[in-house]
Amino acid sequence: MPDFLQRFHFQNTPVRGELCRLNEAYRAALAKHHYPEPVAALLGQAMVAVALMTATLKLKGSLILQIQGDGPVGLIMAECNQAGDVRAIARFDADASYADTQWTTLTGVGRLLLTIEPDDGERYQGIVPLEGASLADALGHYFRQSEQLPTKFIFAADNEGAAGLMLQVLPGHNSGEDDDLWPRVTQLAATVKNEELLGVAPEQLLYRLFHEESVELFPTTALRFKCTCSRERSANALVSLGVEDLREVAAEQGGTISVDCQFCHQVYGFDAVDIEQLFQPAADAPDSVQ
Ligand SMILES: [Zn+2]
Repeated sequence: MPDFLQRFHFQNTPVRGELCRLNEAYRAALAKHHYPEPVAALLGQAMVAVALMTATLKLKGSLILQIQGDGPVGLIMAECNQAGDVRAIARFDADASYADTQWTTLTGVGRLLLTIEPDDGERYQGIVPLEGASLADALGHYFRQSEQLPTKFIFAADNEGAAGLMLQVLPGHNSGEDDDLWPRVTQLAATVKNEELLGVAPEQLLYRLFHEESVELFPTTALRFKCTCSRERSANALVSLGVEDLREVAAEQGGTISVDCQFCHQVYGFDAVDIEQLFQPAADAPDSVQ
């Protein structure tokens, strides 16, 4: 089954849910990076998390999840847009042992950042300290603290794939007239086994978990690993450094600056002529004064 996101809704209630599974996208994100197994598993969870959360965005844009800590895994960053393009990267200490695979040991003391980058408009960033014993806990804490939305995450990852389940009370509601609904569905969700999350078809899995509830399924969305880097974005990043610095770096690097995308390893080369051109005003640019 291709990588997917499955949204669902408990009928006549303010509780929504999503299921996500990434196999190909996960393997593509791991390729060429040589991540230790526990690091790869965290990266997979972060990819699933960001895909689940992107599906709840009301505006067009992308979502970036960052986990920064003082443990051996210093940074995990995962990004997804509404087209279903996911990319992710981890920075880790290659000399650490990784025998202890607990979240708190791997990430240490740190913070969780969620950035919404609308296609049009201001970016928004929320930051909370890392809390709890897992990424699921840390994200649950984020939604309680920043958004006041009861939200439950469950993740699983192995060598082949990563998957997750999210339940959330819709903004502007408490859990509705049925007081027991939220504790009931979150407890049912908590009974899911890793192999079920990673392997059972979504419709079947939702039936197994919630067969006593009325669950409405929406059409599934396809997800894929796709890097959003481009020559233009690399050029914009270079311009911000200033022409003097770029000339200097180019001279040190034998005449050409190579911008290596950390996510997909695409290399964009800028030679001396390219660098000077970056700073030439385009003759027919609409904002040109002449
Ligand atoms: Zn890239």
